[in-house]
Amino acid sequence: MAATHAFWLAGRQVGGEDSFDVTSPWDGRVVGTVSVPTDAQTEEAVAAAYAVRDAFAATPAHVRAAALDHVSKRLVERTEEIARLISAENGKPIKWARGEVGRAVSVFRFAAEEARRFNGGEAQRLDTDAGGQGRLALTRRFPKGVVLGIAPFNFPLNLCAHKIAPAIAAGAPIILKPAPATPLSGLIIGELLAETDLPAGSWSILPVPNDKMPTLVKDERLPVISFTGSEKVGYAIMDSVPRKHCTLELGGNGAAVVLADFASDEDLDWAATRIATFSNYQGGQSCISVQRVIADASVYERLLPRIVAAVEAQVTGDPNDDATDVGPLVSEDAAKRVETWVDEAVAAGASLLTGGKRDGASYAPTVLTDVPSDVTLACEEVFGPVLTVQKVNGEPEAFAAVNDSKYGLQAGVFTHDLQAAFRAHRALEVGGVVIGDVPSYRADQMPYGGAKQSGVGREGVRYAMDDYTYERVLVLTGL
Ligand code: NAD
Repeated sequence: MAATHAFWLAGRQVGGEDSFDVTSPWDGRVVGTVSVPTDAQTEEAVAAAYAVRDAFAATPAHVRAAALDHVSKRLVERTEEIARLISAENGKPIKWARGEVGRAVSVFRFAAEEARRFNGGEAQRLDTDAGGQGRLALTRRFPKGVVLGIAPFNFPLNLCAHKIAPAIAAGAPIILKPAPATPLSGLIIGELLAETDLPAGSWSILPVPNDKMPTLVKDERLPVISFTGSEKVGYAIMDSVPRKHCTLELGGNGAAVVLADFASDEDLDWAATRIATFSNYQGGQSCISVQRVIADASVYERLLPRIVAAVEAQVTGDPNDDATDVGPLVSEDAAKRVETWVDEAVAAGASLLTGGKRDGASYAPTVLTDVPSDVTLACEEVFGPVLTVQKVNGEPEAFAAVNDSKYGLQAGVFTHDLQAAFRAHRALEVGGVVIGDVPSYRADQMPYGGAKQSGVGREGVRYAMDDYTYERVLVLTGL
Protein backbone atom coordinates (compact mmCIF):
# COMPACT_ATOMS: atom_id res chain seq x y z
CA MET A 1 0.00 0.00 0.00
CA ALA A 2 1.23 3.49 -0.84
CA ALA A 3 2.30 5.64 2.11
CA THR A 4 0.22 8.59 3.36
CA HIS A 5 2.19 11.81 3.33
CA ALA A 6 1.47 14.44 5.93
CA PHE A 7 2.04 18.10 5.07
CA TRP A 8 4.24 20.67 6.79
CA LEU A 9 2.53 23.20 9.03
CA ALA A 10 4.86 25.80 10.54
CA GLY A 11 7.76 23.37 10.30
CA ARG A 12 5.87 20.42 11.85
CA GLN A 13 4.60 17.36 10.02
CA VAL A 14 0.82 17.22 10.44
CA GLY A 15 -2.06 15.25 8.94
CA GLY A 16 -5.43 16.69 7.92
CA GLU A 17 -8.91 15.18 7.82
CA ASP A 18 -9.11 14.57 4.06
CA SER A 19 -6.61 13.12 1.64
CA PHE A 20 -6.16 12.42 -2.07
CA ASP A 21 -4.21 9.89 -4.11
CA VAL A 22 -1.29 10.78 -6.36
CA THR A 23 -1.11 8.42 -9.33
CA SER A 24 1.59 7.62 -11.86
CA PRO A 25 0.72 8.83 -15.35
CA TRP A 26 2.71 5.88 -16.74
CA ASP A 27 0.90 2.92 -15.15
CA GLY A 28 -1.84 4.46 -13.03
CA ARG A 29 -0.51 3.02 -9.77
CA VAL A 30 -1.03 5.03 -6.58
CA VAL A 31 2.35 6.56 -5.74
CA GLY A 32 1.24 8.09 -2.46
CA THR A 33 -1.70 9.52 -0.56
CA VAL A 34 -1.48 13.13 0.52
CA SER A 35 -3.17 14.71 3.50
CA VAL A 36 -5.05 17.95 2.81
CA PRO A 37 -4.97 20.76 5.37
CA THR A 38 -8.28 21.83 6.89
CA ASP A 39 -9.20 25.53 6.72
CA ALA A 40 -8.20 25.85 10.39
CA GLN A 41 -4.78 24.28 9.70
CA THR A 42 -4.17 26.62 6.75
CA GLU A 43 -5.12 29.55 8.98
CA GLU A 44 -2.71 28.29 11.65
CA ALA A 45 0.16 28.21 9.11
CA VAL A 46 -0.57 31.74 7.87
CA ALA A 47 -0.89 33.10 11.40
CA ALA A 48 2.41 31.45 12.40
CA ALA A 49 4.24 32.85 9.35
CA TYR A 50 2.81 36.32 9.98
CA ALA A 51 3.77 36.22 13.64
CA VAL A 52 7.36 35.22 12.95
CA ARG A 53 8.02 37.64 10.05
CA ASP A 54 10.04 40.27 11.95
CA ALA A 55 11.98 37.69 13.93
CA PHE A 56 12.75 35.70 10.78
CA ALA A 57 13.96 38.79 8.91
CA ALA A 58 16.37 39.35 11.81
CA THR A 59 17.71 35.75 11.84
CA PRO A 60 21.48 35.90 11.29
CA ALA A 61 22.53 35.24 7.69
CA HIS A 62 24.79 32.37 8.79
CA VAL A 63 21.84 30.50 10.32
CA ARG A 64 19.74 30.79 7.17
CA ALA A 65 22.73 29.98 4.94
CA ALA A 66 23.57 26.88 7.02
CA ALA A 67 19.98 25.62 6.69
CA LEU A 68 20.05 26.11 2.92
CA ASP A 69 23.43 24.38 2.62
CA HIS A 70 22.04 21.50 4.68
CA VAL A 71 19.10 21.02 2.30
CA SER A 72 21.47 21.13 -0.68
CA LYS A 73 23.71 18.43 0.84
CA ARG A 74 20.80 16.22 1.82
CA LEU A 75 19.37 16.44 -1.69
CA VAL A 76 22.70 15.13 -2.98
CA GLU A 77 22.56 12.22 -0.54
CA ARG A 78 18.96 11.35 -1.43
CA THR A 79 19.22 12.01 -5.18
CA GLU A 80 18.22 8.59 -6.46
CA GLU A 81 15.27 8.16 -4.11
CA ILE A 82 13.93 11.66 -4.85
CA ALA A 83 14.48 11.27 -8.60
CA ARG A 84 12.45 8.03 -8.49
CA LEU A 85 9.66 9.91 -6.68
CA ILE A 86 9.63 12.76 -9.24
CA SER A 87 9.56 10.21 -12.04
CA ALA A 88 6.75 8.23 -10.39
CA GLU A 89 4.38 11.12 -9.73
CA ASN A 90 5.18 13.17 -12.84
CA GLY A 91 6.04 10.51 -15.46
CA LYS A 92 9.36 12.23 -16.16
CA PRO A 93 12.07 9.88 -17.47
CA ILE A 94 14.48 9.01 -14.69
CA LYS A 95 17.50 10.63 -16.34
CA TRP A 96 15.69 13.99 -16.50
CA ALA A 97 14.43 13.49 -12.94
CA ARG A 98 18.03 13.02 -11.74
CA GLY A 99 18.90 16.22 -13.59
CA GLU A 100 16.08 18.03 -11.80
CA VAL A 101 17.37 16.96 -8.38
CA GLY A 102 20.83 18.21 -9.41
CA ARG A 103 19.34 21.58 -10.29
CA ALA A 104 17.55 21.82 -6.94
CA VAL A 105 20.87 21.02 -5.23
CA SER A 106 22.32 24.08 -7.00
CA VAL A 107 19.33 26.30 -6.20
CA PHE A 108 19.70 25.68 -2.45
CA ARG A 109 23.48 26.16 -2.71
CA PHE A 110 23.08 29.43 -4.65
CA ALA A 111 20.55 30.58 -2.07
CA ALA A 112 23.00 29.83 0.77
CA GLU A 113 25.67 31.87 -1.03
CA GLU A 114 23.25 34.75 -1.70
CA ALA A 115 22.06 34.71 1.93
CA ARG A 116 25.66 35.38 2.97
CA ARG A 117 26.21 38.33 0.65
CA PHE A 118 22.69 39.78 0.36
CA ASN A 119 21.93 43.05 2.07
CA GLY A 120 25.50 44.15 2.69
CA GLY A 121 24.05 47.62 2.31
CA GLU A 122 25.06 50.52 0.15
CA ALA A 123 26.23 53.94 1.32
CA GLN A 124 25.44 57.00 -0.78
CA ARG A 125 26.80 60.48 -0.09
CA LEU A 126 24.05 63.08 -0.29
CA ASP A 127 26.33 66.14 -0.27
CA THR A 128 26.47 66.17 -4.07
CA ASP A 129 23.63 68.64 -3.71
CA ALA A 130 23.67 71.62 -1.31
CA GLY A 131 20.51 70.40 0.42
CA GLY A 132 22.17 67.12 1.31
CA GLN A 133 25.29 68.59 2.89
CA GLY A 134 26.33 66.67 6.01
CA ARG A 135 24.06 63.74 5.20
CA LEU A 136 24.60 60.12 4.17
CA ALA A 137 22.07 57.55 2.93
CA LEU A 138 22.39 53.85 3.79
CA THR A 139 20.23 51.44 1.82
CA ARG A 140 19.29 47.95 2.91
CA ARG A 141 16.60 45.56 1.72
CA PHE A 142 13.86 44.20 3.98
CA PRO A 143 11.27 41.48 3.26
CA LYS A 144 7.91 42.74 2.03
CA GLY A 145 6.28 40.13 4.26
CA VAL A 146 5.15 36.52 4.03
CA VAL A 147 5.43 34.99 0.54
CA LEU A 148 2.75 32.74 -0.94
CA GLY A 149 4.57 30.43 -3.41
CA ILE A 150 2.45 28.47 -5.90
CA ALA A 151 4.22 25.81 -8.01
CA PRO A 152 3.30 23.83 -11.17
CA PHE A 153 3.57 20.10 -11.87
CA ASN A 154 6.29 20.01 -14.50
CA PHE A 155 9.37 20.52 -12.28
CA PRO A 156 7.77 19.43 -9.01
CA LEU A 157 10.98 19.67 -6.97
CA ASN A 158 13.00 22.42 -8.60
CA LEU A 159 10.22 24.95 -9.03
CA CYS A 160 9.29 24.47 -5.35
CA ALA A 161 12.99 25.06 -4.62
CA HIS A 162 12.86 28.29 -6.66
CA LYS A 163 10.10 29.60 -4.36
CA ILE A 164 11.28 28.46 -0.94
CA ALA A 165 15.08 28.80 -1.13
CA PRO A 166 15.16 32.53 -2.06
CA ALA A 167 12.51 33.26 0.60
CA ILE A 168 14.66 31.68 3.31
CA ALA A 169 17.75 33.41 1.94
CA ALA A 170 15.98 36.79 2.11
CA GLY A 171 14.50 36.16 5.57
CA ALA A 172 10.90 36.11 4.32
CA PRO A 173 8.55 33.44 5.73
CA ILE A 174 6.81 31.37 3.05
CA ILE A 175 3.68 29.30 2.57
CA LEU A 176 4.41 26.98 -0.36
CA LYS A 177 1.69 25.21 -2.31
CA PRO A 178 2.82 22.39 -4.63
CA ALA A 179 0.77 21.25 -7.64
CA PRO A 180 -2.04 18.73 -6.97
CA ALA A 181 -0.71 16.22 -9.54
CA THR A 182 2.80 16.22 -8.05
CA PRO A 183 2.83 17.26 -4.37
CA LEU A 184 5.20 14.56 -3.09
CA SER A 185 8.44 16.05 -4.44
CA GLY A 186 7.65 19.43 -2.86
CA LEU A 187 6.80 17.80 0.48
CA ILE A 188 10.24 16.13 0.52
CA ILE A 189 11.79 19.60 0.88
CA GLY A 190 9.93 19.78 4.19
CA GLU A 191 11.69 16.66 5.45
CA LEU A 192 15.05 18.31 4.82
CA LEU A 193 14.11 21.74 6.21
CA ALA A 194 12.75 20.05 9.34
CA GLU A 195 16.30 18.87 10.07
CA THR A 196 17.47 22.52 10.35
CA ASP A 197 17.23 25.21 13.04
CA LEU A 198 14.97 27.56 11.10
CA PRO A 199 12.35 29.15 13.34
CA ALA A 200 8.97 27.41 13.57
CA GLY A 201 6.47 29.25 11.41
CA SER A 202 9.03 30.48 8.88
CA TRP A 203 7.97 27.84 6.36
CA SER A 204 4.95 25.67 5.62
CA ILE A 205 4.28 23.36 2.67
CA LEU A 206 0.54 22.91 2.22
CA PRO A 207 -1.22 21.00 -0.59
CA VAL A 208 -4.24 23.31 -0.40
CA PRO A 209 -6.99 22.31 -2.89
CA ASN A 210 -7.44 24.71 -5.83
CA ASP A 211 -10.95 25.72 -4.75
CA LYS A 212 -9.59 26.93 -1.40
CA MET A 213 -6.77 28.96 -2.98
CA PRO A 214 -8.70 32.22 -3.63
CA THR A 215 -9.02 32.73 0.16
CA LEU A 216 -5.28 32.29 0.61
CA VAL A 217 -4.49 34.49 -2.41
CA LYS A 218 -6.62 37.32 -0.98
CA ASP A 219 -5.26 37.04 2.58
CA GLU A 220 -3.83 40.45 3.52
CA ARG A 221 -1.10 38.82 5.62
CA LEU A 222 0.46 37.41 2.42
CA PRO A 223 1.55 40.52 0.45
CA VAL A 224 3.78 38.69 -2.05
CA ILE A 225 2.58 36.01 -4.47
CA SER A 226 5.12 34.08 -6.50
CA PHE A 227 3.24 31.98 -9.03
CA THR A 228 4.54 29.59 -11.68
CA GLY A 229 1.96 27.95 -13.89
CA SER A 230 -0.51 28.65 -16.66
CA GLU A 231 -1.35 32.02 -18.11
CA LYS A 232 -5.04 31.57 -17.27
CA VAL A 233 -4.58 30.89 -13.56
CA GLY A 234 -1.69 33.38 -13.18
CA TYR A 235 -3.56 36.37 -14.60
CA ALA A 236 -6.74 35.41 -12.70
CA ILE A 237 -4.70 35.57 -9.48
CA MET A 238 -3.14 38.92 -10.38
CA ASP A 239 -6.50 40.39 -11.40
CA SER A 240 -8.02 39.30 -8.09
CA VAL A 241 -5.33 41.07 -6.01
CA PRO A 242 -4.16 44.08 -8.09
CA ARG A 243 -2.50 45.74 -5.09
CA LYS A 244 -0.32 42.77 -4.16
CA HIS A 245 3.15 42.12 -5.49
CA CYS A 246 2.72 39.24 -7.97
CA THR A 247 5.50 37.47 -9.81
CA LEU A 248 4.04 35.41 -12.64
CA GLU A 249 6.17 32.79 -14.42
CA LEU A 250 3.84 31.63 -17.18
CA GLY A 251 3.83 29.77 -20.46
CA GLY A 252 5.68 30.09 -23.73
CA ASN A 253 5.98 28.64 -27.22
CA GLY A 254 9.77 28.72 -27.46
CA ALA A 255 11.35 29.40 -30.83
CA ALA A 256 14.70 28.14 -32.12
CA VAL A 257 16.02 30.19 -35.05
CA VAL A 258 18.61 28.74 -37.41
CA LEU A 259 20.32 31.54 -39.36
CA ALA A 260 21.99 31.21 -42.76
CA ASP A 261 25.56 31.16 -41.40
CA PHE A 262 24.87 28.07 -39.26
CA ALA A 263 25.29 25.87 -42.29
CA SER A 264 28.04 23.27 -41.99
CA ASP A 265 27.06 19.61 -41.58
CA GLU A 266 28.38 19.76 -38.06
CA ASP A 267 26.34 22.90 -37.30
CA LEU A 268 23.12 21.40 -38.61
CA ASP A 269 23.67 18.09 -36.81
CA TRP A 270 24.14 19.99 -33.54
CA ALA A 271 21.09 22.19 -34.09
CA ALA A 272 18.89 19.22 -35.07
CA THR A 273 19.99 17.14 -32.07
CA ARG A 274 19.44 19.95 -29.60
CA ILE A 275 16.06 20.85 -31.13
CA ALA A 276 14.87 17.21 -31.09
CA THR A 277 16.03 16.67 -27.52
CA PHE A 278 14.53 19.85 -26.12
CA SER A 279 11.21 19.71 -27.90
CA ASN A 280 10.69 16.31 -26.29
CA TYR A 281 12.38 16.31 -22.90
CA GLN A 282 9.73 15.80 -20.23
CA GLY A 283 7.26 15.18 -23.04
CA GLY A 284 7.59 18.83 -24.10
CA GLN A 285 6.15 19.90 -20.73
CA SER A 286 8.58 22.69 -20.10
CA CYS A 287 7.76 26.37 -20.48
CA ILE A 288 10.95 26.80 -22.57
CA SER A 289 10.55 23.62 -24.60
CA VAL A 290 11.22 24.13 -28.35
CA GLN A 291 7.81 24.44 -29.98
CA ARG A 292 8.76 26.40 -33.11
CA VAL A 293 11.78 26.06 -35.40
CA ILE A 294 12.32 29.06 -37.68
CA ALA A 295 14.93 28.17 -40.27
CA ASP A 296 16.51 30.30 -42.99
CA ALA A 297 15.53 29.07 -46.46
CA SER A 298 19.21 28.48 -47.32
CA VAL A 299 19.56 25.78 -44.62
CA TYR A 300 15.95 24.56 -44.37
CA GLU A 301 16.14 21.62 -46.82
CA ARG A 302 19.24 20.19 -45.13
CA LEU A 303 18.02 20.85 -41.59
CA LEU A 304 14.51 19.39 -41.83
CA PRO A 305 15.44 15.71 -42.48
CA ARG A 306 18.03 15.91 -39.73
CA ILE A 307 15.39 17.15 -37.27
CA VAL A 308 12.95 14.42 -38.28
CA ALA A 309 15.66 11.75 -37.90
CA ALA A 310 16.72 13.10 -34.50
CA VAL A 311 13.11 13.23 -33.31
CA GLU A 312 12.51 9.65 -34.48
CA ALA A 313 15.66 8.59 -32.58
CA GLN A 314 14.11 9.72 -29.27
CA VAL A 315 13.49 6.65 -27.12
CA THR A 316 9.92 6.62 -25.83
CA GLY A 317 8.50 4.44 -23.09
CA ASP A 318 8.83 3.56 -19.41
CA PRO A 319 10.10 6.56 -17.41
CA ASN A 320 11.85 4.17 -15.01
CA ASP A 321 14.16 2.98 -17.75
CA ASP A 322 17.55 4.71 -17.96
CA ALA A 323 17.38 4.69 -21.77
CA THR A 324 14.03 6.49 -22.02
CA ASP A 325 14.06 10.02 -23.43
CA VAL A 326 10.31 10.65 -23.59
CA GLY A 327 7.76 9.33 -21.10
CA PRO A 328 4.02 9.97 -20.80
CA LEU A 329 2.43 13.39 -20.36
CA VAL A 330 1.12 14.24 -16.92
CA SER A 331 -2.31 12.77 -17.70
CA GLU A 332 -4.35 11.17 -20.45
CA ASP A 333 -6.39 14.39 -20.67
CA ALA A 334 -3.22 16.34 -21.41
CA ALA A 335 -2.31 13.89 -24.21
CA LYS A 336 -5.84 14.09 -25.63
CA ARG A 337 -5.60 17.90 -25.76
CA VAL A 338 -2.30 17.68 -27.67
CA GLU A 339 -3.88 15.15 -30.06
CA THR A 340 -6.81 17.50 -30.71
CA TRP A 341 -4.51 20.42 -31.52
CA VAL A 342 -2.33 18.38 -33.90
CA ASP A 343 -5.42 16.90 -35.62
CA GLU A 344 -6.85 20.41 -36.03
CA ALA A 345 -3.60 21.63 -37.63
CA VAL A 346 -3.46 18.67 -40.03
CA ALA A 347 -7.13 19.15 -40.99
CA ALA A 348 -6.30 22.79 -41.75
CA GLY A 349 -3.50 21.79 -44.15
CA ALA A 350 -0.38 21.17 -42.03
CA SER A 351 1.97 18.35 -43.10
CA LEU A 352 2.68 15.70 -40.47
CA LEU A 353 6.24 14.43 -40.96
CA THR A 354 6.43 12.06 -37.99
CA GLY A 355 4.48 11.22 -34.83
CA GLY A 356 0.88 12.32 -34.40
CA LYS A 357 -0.15 9.21 -32.44
CA ARG A 358 -1.48 8.89 -28.90
CA ASP A 359 -1.44 5.86 -26.61
CA GLY A 360 -3.13 6.61 -23.27
CA ALA A 361 -1.18 9.44 -21.63
CA SER A 362 1.71 9.06 -24.10
CA TYR A 363 2.00 11.14 -27.27
CA ALA A 364 4.58 10.31 -29.93
CA PRO A 365 7.29 12.91 -30.68
CA THR A 366 5.81 14.88 -33.56
CA VAL A 367 7.06 17.21 -36.32
CA LEU A 368 4.84 19.33 -38.58
CA THR A 369 5.45 21.86 -41.34
CA ASP A 370 3.17 24.26 -43.23
CA VAL A 371 1.12 24.91 -40.10
CA PRO A 372 -1.49 27.64 -40.80
CA SER A 373 -0.89 30.63 -38.55
CA ASP A 374 -4.42 30.73 -37.14
CA VAL A 375 -4.70 27.18 -35.74
CA THR A 376 -4.45 26.60 -31.99
CA LEU A 377 -1.08 24.85 -32.30
CA ALA A 378 0.42 27.95 -33.92
CA CYS A 379 -1.00 30.39 -31.36
CA GLU A 380 -0.95 28.63 -27.98
CA GLU A 381 1.54 26.78 -25.80
CA VAL A 382 1.29 23.09 -26.78
CA PHE A 383 3.03 21.74 -23.64
CA GLY A 384 3.58 18.43 -25.43
CA PRO A 385 6.24 16.74 -27.65
CA VAL A 386 5.28 18.65 -30.78
CA LEU A 387 7.47 20.76 -33.03
CA THR A 388 6.55 22.98 -35.99
CA VAL A 389 9.16 23.95 -38.59
CA GLN A 390 8.86 27.13 -40.62
CA LYS A 391 10.97 28.46 -43.53
CA VAL A 392 11.91 32.18 -43.61
CA ASN A 393 14.01 34.43 -45.84
CA GLY A 394 16.70 36.22 -43.89
CA GLU A 395 17.28 37.40 -40.36
CA PRO A 396 14.66 40.19 -40.14
CA GLU A 397 11.93 37.77 -41.22
CA ALA A 398 13.21 35.18 -38.72
CA PHE A 399 13.16 37.65 -35.81
CA ALA A 400 9.73 38.93 -36.83
CA ALA A 401 8.46 35.33 -36.80
CA VAL A 402 9.79 34.82 -33.25
CA ASN A 403 7.99 37.99 -32.14
CA ASP A 404 4.76 36.98 -33.87
CA SER A 405 3.49 35.40 -30.66
CA LYS A 406 1.67 36.55 -27.55
CA TYR A 407 4.39 34.82 -25.55
CA GLY A 408 7.98 35.91 -24.92
CA LEU A 409 9.85 33.64 -22.51
CA GLN A 410 13.13 32.68 -24.19
CA ALA A 411 14.42 32.26 -27.76
CA GLY A 412 17.38 30.32 -29.14
CA VAL A 413 19.42 31.55 -32.12
CA PHE A 414 21.85 29.25 -33.89
CA THR A 415 24.50 31.55 -35.36
CA HIS A 416 28.26 32.12 -35.21
CA ASP A 417 27.88 35.80 -36.02
CA LEU A 418 28.54 38.01 -33.00
CA GLN A 419 26.78 40.97 -34.59
CA ALA A 420 23.72 38.80 -35.25
CA ALA A 421 23.79 37.80 -31.58
CA PHE A 422 23.60 41.45 -30.53
CA ARG A 423 20.90 42.15 -33.10
CA ALA A 424 18.89 39.21 -31.73
CA HIS A 425 19.32 40.50 -28.18
CA ARG A 426 17.96 43.89 -29.28
CA ALA A 427 15.15 42.63 -31.50
CA LEU A 428 13.61 39.64 -29.74
CA GLU A 429 10.76 40.37 -27.32
CA VAL A 430 11.65 37.69 -24.78
CA GLY A 431 13.09 37.40 -21.28
CA GLY A 432 16.21 35.58 -22.51
CA VAL A 433 18.09 35.02 -25.78
CA VAL A 434 20.33 31.96 -26.03
CA ILE A 435 22.95 32.04 -28.78
CA GLY A 436 24.19 28.76 -30.26
CA ASP A 437 21.56 26.67 -28.52
CA VAL A 438 17.84 26.09 -27.98
CA PRO A 439 15.59 28.40 -25.91
CA SER A 440 15.40 25.64 -23.30
CA TYR A 441 18.75 26.48 -21.72
CA ARG A 442 18.31 27.78 -18.18
CA ALA A 443 20.92 28.27 -15.49
CA ASP A 444 19.20 28.56 -12.13
CA GLN A 445 21.17 31.60 -11.00
CA MET A 446 20.46 33.79 -14.04
CA PRO A 447 17.44 36.10 -14.28
CA TYR A 448 14.60 34.12 -15.73
CA GLY A 449 11.11 35.18 -16.71
CA GLY A 450 8.91 36.41 -19.49
CA ALA A 451 8.03 39.35 -21.64
CA LYS A 452 4.53 39.86 -23.05
CA GLN A 453 2.08 37.21 -21.78
CA SER A 454 4.82 34.91 -20.51
CA GLY A 455 4.76 36.71 -17.22
CA VAL A 456 5.81 39.46 -14.86
CA GLY A 457 8.99 39.65 -12.78
CA ARG A 458 12.04 37.42 -12.60
CA GLU A 459 13.20 34.29 -10.81
CA GLY A 460 16.78 33.04 -10.54
CA VAL A 461 17.75 32.99 -6.88
CA ARG A 462 18.96 36.57 -6.31
CA TYR A 463 16.30 38.04 -8.60
CA ALA A 464 13.57 36.31 -6.60
CA MET A 465 15.18 37.69 -3.41
CA ASP A 466 14.95 41.19 -4.91
CA ASP A 467 11.28 40.51 -5.61
CA TYR A 468 10.56 39.35 -2.07
CA THR A 469 12.20 42.43 -0.53
CA TYR A 470 12.21 46.21 -0.89
CA GLU A 471 14.79 48.93 -0.37
CA ARG A 472 14.56 50.98 2.78
CA VAL A 473 16.83 54.02 3.08
CA LEU A 474 18.37 55.27 6.32
CA VAL A 475 19.38 58.94 6.14
CA LEU A 476 22.06 59.99 8.64
CA THR A 477 22.35 63.68 9.45
CA GLY A 478 25.13 65.76 10.96
CA LEU A 479 28.08 63.95 9.41
P1 NAD B 1 -1.65 25.54 -13.47
O1 NAD B 1 -1.82 26.99 -13.74
O2 NAD B 1 -2.76 24.64 -13.78
O3 NAD B 1 -1.31 25.30 -11.92
C1 NAD B 1 -0.22 25.94 -11.31
C2 NAD B 1 -0.48 26.01 -9.81
O4 NAD B 1 -1.60 26.87 -9.57
C3 NAD B 1 -0.84 24.66 -9.19
O5 NAD B 1 -0.22 24.56 -7.92
C4 NAD B 1 -2.35 24.77 -9.05
O6 NAD B 1 -2.86 23.94 -8.05
C5 NAD B 1 -2.50 26.22 -8.70
N1 NAD B 1 -3.84 26.78 -8.88
C6 NAD B 1 -4.83 26.33 -9.68
N2 NAD B 1 -5.92 27.11 -9.55
C7 NAD B 1 -5.61 28.08 -8.68
C8 NAD B 1 -6.30 29.21 -8.16
N3 NAD B 1 -7.55 29.49 -8.52
N4 NAD B 1 -5.66 30.01 -7.29
C9 NAD B 1 -4.40 29.77 -6.94
N5 NAD B 1 -3.68 28.71 -7.38
C10 NAD B 1 -4.28 27.88 -8.25
O7 NAD B 1 -0.30 25.11 -14.22
P2 NAD B 1 0.32 23.66 -14.40
O8 NAD B 1 -0.52 22.90 -15.37
O9 NAD B 1 0.63 23.04 -13.08
O10 NAD B 1 1.73 24.01 -15.06
C11 NAD B 1 1.91 24.16 -16.43
C12 NAD B 1 2.06 25.63 -16.79
O11 NAD B 1 3.12 26.21 -16.04
C13 NAD B 1 2.45 25.81 -18.25
O12 NAD B 1 1.71 26.87 -18.80
C14 NAD B 1 3.92 26.18 -18.17
O13 NAD B 1 4.40 26.92 -19.24
C15 NAD B 1 3.96 26.96 -16.91
N6 NAD B 1 5.32 27.01 -16.39
C16 NAD B 1 6.01 28.20 -16.43
C17 NAD B 1 7.31 28.26 -15.97
C18 NAD B 1 8.08 29.56 -15.98
O14 NAD B 1 9.04 29.66 -15.22
N7 NAD B 1 7.72 30.53 -16.79
C19 NAD B 1 7.93 27.11 -15.48
C20 NAD B 1 7.21 25.92 -15.47
C21 NAD B 1 5.90 25.89 -15.91
